[in-house]
Amino acid sequence: MLPASVCSRQDRPDRAVVLKFQGQRVMGKKVDNWPEQLRDLWSGEIEWNSSMARWCTLQVGGPARAVAMPANREELQSLLDVLGRIGVCWRVIGRGSNLLVSDAGYEGVIIMLGRKFSAIEQRGAEKVGDARVQVEAGCSLMKLVNWCVDHGLQGLEFAAGIPGSVGGAVVMNAGAWGKEMSEPLSSVTFLCGSGQFVEREKKDLAFSYRHLESEAMIVVAAEFLLQAGDRQTIDKRCTQLMRERKAKQPQGQANAGSFFKNPAGFPAAGKLIQDAELKGVRVGGAQVSEVHANFLVNTGSATAQDFLDLMRLVQEKVAERFGVRLEPEVHIL
Ligand SMILES: Cc1cc2nc3c(=O)[nH]c(=O)nc-3n(C[C@H](O)[C@H](O)[C@H](O)COP(=O)(O)OP(=O)(O)OC[C@H]3O[C@@H](n4cnc5c(N)ncnc54)[C@H](O)[C@@H]3O)c2cc1C
Repeated sequence: MLPASVCSRQDRPDRAVVLKFQGQRVMGKKVDNWPEQLRDLWSGEIEWNSSMARWCTLQVGGPARAVAMPANREELQSLLDVLGRIGVCWRVIGRGSNLLVSDAGYEGVIIMLGRKFSAIEQRGAEKVGDARVQVEAGCSLMKLVNWCVDHGLQGLEFAAGIPGSVGGAVVMNAGAWGKEMSEPLSSVTFLCGSGQFVEREKKDLAFSYRHLESEAMIVVAAEFLLQAGDRQTIDKRCTQLMRERKAKQPQGQANAGSFFKNPAGFPAAGKLIQDAELKGVRVGGAQVSEVHANFLVNTGSATAQDFLDLMRLVQEKVAERFGVRLEPEVHIL
């Protein structure tokens, strides 16, 4: 039995996603000199007092006390063990492309699964023409898509241009063009609270729109079932989707993609925001994009508070006009 979930459902639209396990002190009492203890007990790479603006595509957010970058599963496992023993809060992130961190920052350890945690390995499949591809959570989706193109494998073209990590994309059940991560996925490997790695098949996981309901903690790898195809055709499809993306989305301004989820039974969030005449509206340095109304962009000087205030303004105006409260897709920390 796994102890807790990665994400619980958002029960209030403007509330941060509550992580039942992440962000909590799971074992001992917080030790006063925990940074020194962490330095002594864990030998992996750490950046101290690191601005989260650097790690998030919105380019806002205060400092995290520490950003730890484990290079492999063993380092991650030992890091969690140490953090449990010294009683320090932690949160795992990928590429920060769906994350709004407050200006106050994070008084704990941000665990970043990044480039060092990004191996891709092809495995045999039961059916001729199929391929199982195991990918570590820190791998960027773009690296994976390019790898698929090089290996003539189809099934992940829709993800071309989504700037997240594989782990983040699984947790978010990221999607585009009517497809989502859960479709080509065959299993997910988690590191759970007991410190064990557990592989779960897709049929045992509850995916929904931009959400994975899970009782486990950290996504460490995902396996995809892909099909052999013509390299040039796959390449062309990815290029075409990237071009369409570029034409529809703001360029050159920091953002986190679609800020709000599309509400069920209503037109898309972007259409509602546009029809509420909010395109171009600003709070401080945060602005509703002139190009795509569901993108909130950083005009250069935004703070996290500007984004939060703009988010609430958009929610209020859309609710007044259309009777629906938009729920953020972006996770707030
Ligand atoms: C320009 C742009 C375009 C975008 N287009 C799309 C799109 O078309 N479709 C779409 O769905 N999204 C889109 N996004 C949003 C974003 O890229 C996706 O949600 C992406 O999957 C987030 O991945 P990440 O690694 O950046 O996650 P992060 O933002 O780092 O984290 C997101 C959440 O997942 C958790 N998390 C991350 N990694 C792990 C892990 N390994 N284990 C457990 N929890 C983890 C974090 O704690 C956080 O709660 C876009 C963003 C941008 C900036």
